[in-house]
Amino acid sequence: MVLDGIRPDVMRSAIGDGDAPALGAIAERGEARWDAVSVFPSITPAATAAIATGEPPSGTGILGHAWYDENEDEIVVYGAKTETVISTGPIKVLHNNVWRMNRDDLIAPTIFESLDDVGVDAACVHFPVRRGPHEHPVRMKTVEGYLKGSRYLSPSVSGPKEYFLGDLFYSTEFGTNGRNGNGGFQRSVGINDEYAAEVGARLVAEKVAPFNLVYFFHGDKVAHHEGISAQRRHVAKLDGFVSKIMEAAGGVDEFLAENAVIAVSDHGHAPLLPKRRFVNLAKVRGYKVSLGARAGFSAGADIVAVPNGRAALLYLRDAPKSVADVAERLSGRKGVDLASWREEGWVAVRRVGREMRFRPGAGATDRYGDSWEIEGDHRALGVEVSDGKVHYGDYPDALSRLWGCLASSRSGDVVLSASPGHTFGEVSGGYHQASDHGSLHREDSEVFSIACGVPAPEKITDVAPTILAHFIEDENGVSAAKVAEENVG
Ligand SMILES: [Zn+2]
Repeated sequence: MVLDGIRPDVMRSAIGDGDAPALGAIAERGEARWDAVSVFPSITPAATAAIATGEPPSGTGILGHAWYDENEDEIVVYGAKTETVISTGPIKVLHNNVWRMNRDDLIAPTIFESLDDVGVDAACVHFPVRRGPHEHPVRMKTVEGYLKGSRYLSPSVSGPKEYFLGDLFYSTEFGTNGRNGNGGFQRSVGINDEYAAEVGARLVAEKVAPFNLVYFFHGDKVAHHEGISAQRRHVAKLDGFVSKIMEAAGGVDEFLAENAVIAVSDHGHAPLLPKRRFVNLAKVRGYKVSLGARAGFSAGADIVAVPNGRAALLYLRDAPKSVADVAERLSGRKGVDLASWREEGWVAVRRVGREMRFRPGAGATDRYGDSWEIEGDHRALGVEVSDGKVHYGDYPDALSRLWGCLASSRSGDVVLSASPGHTFGEVSGGYHQASDHGSLHREDSEVFSIACGVPAPEKITDVAPTILAHFIEDENGVSAAKVAEENVG
């Protein structure tokens, strides 16, 4: 179960106060981590792709809500949230979100594909990254209408054996689809958390597939619009959905006796300042900036800026020449916490006038077992190195996460992370009211991970390997180590 955007402290207090008994039961009988980490940018498409594949953005090719496609000279927008995209978004955004991201841009195999390789069927409810070996036809008549003569959308998507996305796609008729394909884009298309819980419960009750991924997105939206305390109240409702799924197996005891379970969030949330929270990237002194859904270099811009909530990807016409200069200008700006860029095989970071650079290699080791060569002023990332160990401060897993963004050719030449309280907003020019995410800072980077029957993942990139190891050991009698070996090969 992926619970979009729920902060670890919010989940912990809800369980502690008795407002989340179902999730609490999983934590009590299994284990809970309150400092698991997301990827950078800590934003839904990048994070859900990481959960579904076990790879950081450099391995998935999915960097955020939006990125600049150099080959096509265009901004690719996946949209902030599936429901927003479908209710208000243009067809092209729907296309990018549902078709392009999975089919064309995602470069790593998904858990659904990996499980299929070892003969394990899967079901997916609402999770945005769902590529798999089975074709699923569009079930909505309005979408079928758009298909005629459009260069966007197509009559089907590929997914796991069972795939559900509101009234758009459903591989099994549970009689829970409200509108039988007549919802239309301006009305609900049945994509909501209540429906996800209903389908999740049916999948469990009828033992449709050995592996099920159910996604709840509303807790993220609640935080964006109403803040963290509203999200805390929402967790009680969310727990009801989880409870419904467990009840479908006959209750907590029966559910946990039959199933291993992981509940995890994809990213955290950072409260925004009531005023002056928006950091506008339209102007950078000495450079012509192109910003927005139609941004590109064709009109003579020096910088194409792509905001992604509390992160921003900046693409430079004459990179690497002006990269350090742009990073220096922007890292001093109010609301910009740090700037990062590639530098001859290193990743460099600048924050409050301090600079450091690092690369994977023989050197100090962090708590995740990765070792790093580090040069310059460690305080630029709040990193402490002592006795051969790297200790992180306000930027959890900072080295691996920055590397996992900057190493992608789709990443900007300069990548920004916002200060607490601030946001770069969306490609559309809008920005959220109460809270946002995307940065390297722990507020929006830390997630909870609760598991029973398998270890609770330390990072969201551990989720897919944990699931794969579980099925391979259980169902096929093959050791997880052997598969890890093959994957390396
Ligand atoms: Zn969000």
